[in-house]
Amino acid sequence: MGDYHVHLHPHEPRPEHGPPPGEYPPGHVDAFVERALSRGATEVGFTEHLYRFVEFAPAIEGFWAEGARQDLTEQSRQMYYDELNLHLDRYVEAVTGARDRGLPVRLGMEVDWFPAHADRIADILAQYPFDFLVGSVHWVGEWALDHPAVTYEYERRGVRRAYEDYFALVTELAEAGLVQVLGHADVVKKFGHRCEQEPVDLYERLVAAVVRGGIAIEVNSAGLRKRIAEPYPAPTLLRMFHAAGVPITLASDAHEPHEAADRFDDITRYARAAGYREQLAFAVGGAARLVPLSDPDVR
Ligand SMILES: [Zn+2]
Ligand SMILES: [Zn+2]
Repeated sequence: MGDYHVHLHPHEPRPEHGPPPGEYPPGHVDAFVERALSRGATEVGFTEHLYRFVEFAPAIEGFWAEGARQDLTEQSRQMYYDELNLHLDRYVEAVTGARDRGLPVRLGMEVDWFPAHADRIADILAQYPFDFLVGSVHWVGEWALDHPAVTYEYERRGVRRAYEDYFALVTELAEAGLVQVLGHADVVKKFGHRCEQEPVDLYERLVAAVVRGGIAIEVNSAGLRKRIAEPYPAPTLLRMFHAAGVPITLASDAHEPHEAADRFDDITRYARAAGYREQLAFAVGGAARLVPLSDPDVR
């Protein structure tokens, strides 16, 4: 069982403890792995945020200026430069170095969906030996929809419209051929906003796109740590993915060691309740295979 969504650096403003952004002191990668293994994971796939790496700046700079809202544009621009502090070579070396020392780790990345910049992003990704890529929507145009500073946009836009705008992008990402796993499929619910009626029409379009794209989705425990207090994706959506034959990975979306494989027993039960009995695992080099999904109540 792998945790295929783990970051090595927290967001800004970052906590006092831990190394400065872009630094990987001895024992740093190990701390994530040790915690994940202690919770029953057997493998850790690191997936640092693409937008934080300086190497991608030439490919994506300006993505925040693609809509009309000046306040959202400015917040995204500020956030982008505040977090533009990681270097690809150091990250790749930290993870592959840990692998060479015998740790059960995989090299991945959380790839932001910036549709206008996707070709240039793919060109850079192709230059590095990633084992797998997770694709996520964090921006709807100029709006950083999962950032706590701009949640007022849900009220301004209307919750249903926010869902429609978000799902249009994540549906496009699902069949773009850029990644192997779709990250936190319904992160638009993060702060507790729900449509008056569950948006099954949006779910249906997403599931169909994921099937056409031939990718997996993740069951991500981070939602349990947010106001929504529910894993990603919602039970209805996860059951629809299962019915359509879409494979899953398990994901903590940890940003600090203590979060690695967080609540994995809970999300394993959650996935089993949706019908899943297998999960996807990635070998070094990227080959994917289905492995049994354990039953936390039978050990
Ligand atoms: Zn994410
Ligand atoms: Zn993440």
